[in-house]
Amino acid sequence: MNGSAAHRVVVVGGGFAGVQAVRGLADAPAEVTLVDRQNYTLFQPLVYQVATGALSPAEIAVPLRRIFRRQRNARVVLAEVKGFDLDAREVVLDDLPNGAGQMRLGYDTRLRFDGRDQVTLLQGSLYVDSGGLGIGPPLTIHTPAGEVRHIGTQFQIRVSGNATDIRVREGRVALQRGGVVARTIAAGDALEVRGSEERWQHGLPSFGAEWEWSASLAPPLAIEDRPLAEFLAWMAREHGWQLHFDDEALQRQAQGIHLHGSLEGLDADAMLERVALVTGVPLDLDEGVLWVGKR
Ligand SMILES: Cc1cc2nc3c(=O)[nH]c(=O)nc-3n(C[C@H](O)[C@H](O)[C@H](O)COP(=O)(O)OP(=O)(O)OC[C@H]3O[C@@H](n4cnc5c(N)ncnc54)[C@H](O)[C@@H]3O)c2cc1C
Repeated sequence: MNGSAAHRVVVVGGGFAGVQAVRGLADAPAEVTLVDRQNYTLFQPLVYQVATGALSPAEIAVPLRRIFRRQRNARVVLAEVKGFDLDAREVVLDDLPNGAGQMRLGYDTRLRFDGRDQVTLLQGSLYVDSGGLGIGPPLTIHTPAGEVRHIGTQFQIRVSGNATDIRVREGRVALQRGGVVARTIAAGDALEVRGSEERWQHGLPSFGAEWEWSASLAPPLAIEDRPLAEFLAWMAREHGWQLHFDDEALQRQAQGIHLHGSLEGLDADAMLERVALVTGVPLDLDEGVLWVGKR
């Protein structure tokens, strides 16, 4: 939030209601962010005319950015909203604008979408999970320290004033300046850049308090009929744990055990406890390793 605005408002959906809501806030002392998974608003009453060939699709679909180009307190973000954390006052967005994975924003984060694969982190915390090594086209994140490009990874960036903190959990990211790779940050490394000063940390754990804000924003996993193995892999990825099965037979068995019900509202420990109880498979978390089976 900049000093001039009293409130920040997020409007989800640029349909009839969303467009009117943003317009209605044009003179309000507020920064308004409109999020839609499409970059246009659709005038649905004329869909029939398009279907019968009387109109072309372009005549009933208007780009949202064009509608609000002159509204100074409004900006449009192209993303899918996956959920809300009302206590933390956070909106969870899924699908990066280039479709390369998942992105989470901390409260008080200001992000500008500059294009399909370009964003600028102006302030706050951004967590990216591109889904695995080598998957998806890379996204470029502009920060005061330079442009961050990832190579299929999990990482977070925090920007505060001119300080940029980049921390990599899996894979590696490149920090570029003027299109040239200036630094490569690997898993377990953190680089803090403050003006011309740099501070490196190495050998950092992939789990623990530093990463928990992003895990707390993870969209809930629907476990109904999901194999135990998938649930465990998801937990390990979200929390940065290593997964260790007692033996290969148990690992195969975990594919065939299906979960039922819901784990919504439970924290990580309670989820493990509940799943261990209903499946009869011992689960034990110790120093970032999730042990499956007897140790
Ligand atoms: C064929 C047709 C003809 C119609 N004719 C008339 C008519 O003649 N008169 C009339 O009064 N009404 C008509 N309606 C109904 C009218 O179009 C709807 O009532 C109106 O569009 C509802 O407005 P809305 O803003 O609530 O939702 P929508 O217009 O549906 O807009 C919702 C927006 O939210 C976005 N969105 C949804 N979920 C997410 C998410 N998770 N993350 C990000 N973005 C998301 C969507 O992309 C969409 O842009 C018609 C509807 C249809 C389908």
